[in-house]
Amino acid sequence: MIDLHMHTTASDGRSSPEALVAEVQAAGCRTIAVTDHDTIAGVSAVRDAAAARGLGFVPGIEMTAVTESADVHILGYFIDVTDPALADFLRAQRERRRTRVAAMGERLRVAGAPVNLDHVLDVTVESGRSVGRPAVALALVTAGHAADISDAFARYLVEGRPGYLPRSGPDPAEVIGRLHAAGGVSSIAHPGKMHRDHLIAPMIAAGLDAIEVYHSDHSVADVVRYQAMADEHGLMVTGGSDYHGPGSGRTGGLGVVGLPPAAFDRLAAYAARRH
Ligand code: AMP
Ligand code: ZN
Ligand code: FE
Ligand code: FE
Repeated sequence: MIDLHMHTTASDGRSSPEALVAEVQAAGCRTIAVTDHDTIAGVSAVRDAAAARGLGFVPGIEMTAVTESADVHILGYFIDVTDPALADFLRAQRERRRTRVAAMGERLRVAGAPVNLDHVLDVTVESGRSVGRPAVALALVTAGHAADISDAFARYLVEGRPGYLPRSGPDPAEVIGRLHAAGGVSSIAHPGKMHRDHLIAPMIAAGLDAIEVYHSDHSVADVVRYQAMADEHGLMVTGGSDYHGPGSGRTGGLGVVGLPPAAFDRLAAYAARRH
């Protein structure tokens, strides 16, 4: 299995880099990419653990862009993790995340559902760890305002609910440019979850390299539709489970959803050509 989408404790995953590699190997993965939200803090530890266990490894990230007040997740692969401009950009992304989480805490207080976010906001931008709504959801559960994470999202944290705040940040074209500047290739993450296919054409015009065709939340119809779109525009294809670790509720695709080997070989050759 080739799995190019998974998260560690550097963002909202439940597994440390070392634990993650053990889990995904046990599930049958032979080549992996780690793709934490707006951070590469887990990359070197995953790379080392993968090497020690004889797994293939690709450095990756899942960057957050905003357009038409919708979040667009953009995966980056084969990035140069030592690139200083990339580091600066990601630091700014994490700062925006922190600011948003703090403001959501304030909104929840005003709404009569106060939560303790001290542990979340103690995470500094420099630590490389990124925070987000899943941490706020956990605080809502801890405070007794919600039964579980998905209940916390549904009642407080999705658009239209009292804790929600729209995100500010770069548009997809900027994120694609940042990934290219760091030597990477870009892939729109799980477009089937976005329900906004009209956003893809402008991204292709901005240099989008690939579409994440295979994903745990994609139906067979999604796979067929996005593969056809990739073929039509001469784009590469990516795929992975989006595994978030034990207890995350996002474990189902591990060892089941991944990228076919031929598509991975094309992606790797494309990335090498672009370099
Ligand atoms: P943020 O980037 O801070 O807006 O948080 C978004 C993240 O929260 C996503 O990447 C998902 O991992 C998670 N998420 C979004 N919606 C839900 C939901 N309804 N239930 C559980 N997790 C969610
Ligand atoms: Zn996540
Ligand atoms: Fe995502
Ligand atoms: Fe993800």
